[in-house]
Amino acid sequence: MGRTVVVLGGGISGLAASYHLSRAPCPPKVVLVEGSERLGGWIRSVRGPDGAVFELGPRGIRPAGVLGARTLLMQVSELGLDSEVLPVRGDHAAAQNRFLYVGGALHALPSGIRGLLRPSPPFSKPLFWAGLKELTTPRGKDPDETVHSFAERRLGPEVSLGDSNLEADHIISAIPASALSKLLPAEAAPLARALSTITAVSVAVVNLQYRGARLPVQGFGHLVPSSEDPGILGIVYDSVAFPEQDGSPPGLRVTVMLGGSWLQTLEARGSVLSQELFQKEAEKAAATQLGLKEPPSHCLVHLHKNCIPQYTLGHWQKLESATQFLAAQKLPLTLAGASYEGVAVNDCIESGRQAAARVLGTEPNS
Ligand SMILES: Cc1cc2nc3c(=O)[nH]c(=O)nc-3n(C[C@H](O)[C@H](O)[C@H](O)COP(=O)(O)OP(=O)(O)OC[C@H]3O[C@@H](n4cnc5c(N)ncnc54)[C@H](O)[C@@H]3O)c2cc1C
Repeated sequence: MGRTVVVLGGGISGLAASYHLSRAPCPPKVVLVEGSERLGGWIRSVRGPDGAVFELGPRGIRPAGVLGARTLLMQVSELGLDSEVLPVRGDHAAAQNRFLYVGGALHALPSGIRGLLRPSPPFSKPLFWAGLKELTTPRGKDPDETVHSFAERRLGPEVSLGDSNLEADHIISAIPASALSKLLPAEAAPLARALSTITAVSVAVVNLQYRGARLPVQGFGHLVPSSEDPGILGIVYDSVAFPEQDGSPPGLRVTVMLGGSWLQTLEARGSVLSQELFQKEAEKAAATQLGLKEPPSHCLVHLHKNCIPQYTLGHWQKLESATQFLAAQKLPLTLAGASYEGVAVNDCIESGRQAAARVLGTEPNS
């Protein structure tokens, strides 16, 4: 009988892993296990009554580097989705312009090397130096747990699905690290503890649509530093990048992202996180920061709990140890997904591809 590979999680990482496994010359039996009633994970689009598209999760994919572009575009092509792609060209306002809301006004973020080397208001120093300082700050000394010394016994190749069990030769986990940590058997408790320390933060996404309104600037969107507003992360100007999705008759679409210390504090206090609260804060931000003072014609509010993994100090050592532990113990488990080596959609697709290649015994970096 052929091999069976179970892929846990039907987000983009798990879907990419399943796709690459099933395309192998001698494909294993692939069983995709998804806990919710839909596939796609955080990727989710909703159509409004006028046909406008509202993205509840990612809204754009920026293929990182040549390999990223090649891998992503090749896969889009293989899936026959070329005609569905809405490209944003390099000279488009949405690709060129990003803003920062500081001191009650929008400031264009410098683009290109020159912009980074010159101070531009509201910054008193060139951004290049600020970035360099980040890069040269010494690594933290926070101790990594040595998962090497963890349990001697091997993790059994069995997935528990509530009442039923599923036999598999190998498991690719494409669910959040903290979710996997809760599924591991007692023998793997130390590994589970390491994975449980990879946490994620919540983001509230508020999609707003306005009739007969205009933006004061054209660009991808703007960021809001916590010093300016502890709750608003930024606003994306969806209509600028993708006017095709404005519906009929077209309406201006923006997405306000809320989170940061404001949301963390509310969550920690166990406060009631009502839709009305997020809508009110989002509408206030759109009015103050973009001059969108009329009430929106359409509004969607979603609180995405623990949706963006945080790579805190010691993250890479933690991963290295986990990888070595899995290899040393010859555990039939491979990790993929946003919890590990990049949260962007293209990183997740690549992590699924690499996980599949490892399981198939082919070169992951080809
Ligand atoms: C609001 C928001 C905006 C974003 N914007 C962008 C963007 O513009 N561009 C970009 O590149 N990236 C963006 N990202 C990041 C990117 O969308 C995500 O990192 C990526 O989609 C994560 O994919 P994943 O498959 O690794 O995980 P997930 O999408 O979390 O998928 C995991 C799946 O596993 C399932 N699952 C969980 N536990 C279990 C279990 N025990 N058993 C079975 N199934 C389980 C879940 O239901 C889910 O379907 C954004 C993310 C968010 C939240």
